[in-house]
Amino acid sequence: MEERYDVVIIGAGPAGLTAAIYASRANLEVLIIEAAVNGGKLSKTYEIENYPGYQSISGIELADRLTKHGQKFGAKLISGEVRKIEGEKEKTVTLADGRVFSAKAVIVATGTKERMLDLPRADEFTGRGISYCAVCDGFFYRNKEVVIIGGGNSALEEALYLASLASKVTIVVRRDVFRADAKVVDQVKANEKIEIITKHVPDALCIEEERICGLQIRDVETGETRVVPCKGIFPYIGADACTDFVDQKILDDHNYIITNNDMSTAIEGIYAAGDCIQKDLRQVVTACNDGAIAANSVIKYLKEQ
Ligand code: NAP
Repeated sequence: MEERYDVVIIGAGPAGLTAAIYASRANLEVLIIEAAVNGGKLSKTYEIENYPGYQSISGIELADRLTKHGQKFGAKLISGEVRKIEGEKEKTVTLADGRVFSAKAVIVATGTKERMLDLPRADEFTGRGISYCAVCDGFFYRNKEVVIIGGGNSALEEALYLASLASKVTIVVRRDVFRADAKVVDQVKANEKIEIITKHVPDALCIEEERICGLQIRDVETGETRVVPCKGIFPYIGADACTDFVDQKILDDHNYIITNNDMSTAIEGIYAAGDCIQKDLRQVVTACNDGAIAANSVIKYLKEQ
């Protein structure tokens, strides 16, 4: 027998957990399904300074608080990877391990997944010299040199964190323009432990005795290469929406979900929220906003059934 819920929320990041708070406080039967870590990307973020009410809070602490809050009013949280959503009115959600749940509505809040470094042998060295999580792995690079790739908020914020541990942080940016907020750019520029190299891209891993010993970078204008010595490489080169299981007809050209103002999609009963939707500003606070709106829309939708 399938377990039946009023709403299945896919993803336990800020959007999904906020949706769970609103839906379960309205007495809906709520199931949250998370494929990786509760709290989503928050759990990989060192410090958050722009979530209202907290002048500064660690990502792990906010993730933990949101996870507890999301379940406080009765929502059930399970681990699992969703493979497909089917059905017209009643939705069937199938997981990779074969479990099936049914629901009157679904909220997709799966966020994004970081892009991987596309260099020969990069996969092989992920977890042993290449890391996508400074908070998780920064400790291994105490008093060592590290390289960060990218010029967005993730790259620069994690550069500041790593500068508190590493002996030197080099940031390699492919243009001479940052995508990060001005305040973080200023902090990075003022940090004596951080060197910024612009207009360069990663070219090859330097490996000695099967360990990372540097990153070869290439000047995008002249094509010249040079090596930045380092023991660790942290690529923060953007992210892609986790929407593999979502019907193509509600995705844009970059695989983000197209939503209306009320977070509904072109498929009846499917709503979406957070970083996986097409939008300009991907922040914890905007994810929470989307989650609250999506839940409120589901509440209204179910009343009309
Ligand atoms: P992002 O803003 O998309 O920045 C990606 C960076 O990587 C850019 O500098 C980009 O260069 C560069 N890049 C992309 N592909 C590359 C490649 N193949 N080789 C070298 N460099 C490459 O990504 P993000 O920093 O992960 O942020 C994702 C979203 O989350 C953004 O909306 C961001 O604002 C948000 N976020 C917010 C916060 C916060 O507010 N505290 C923290 C983290 C993330 P180009 O500029 O040339 O494309």
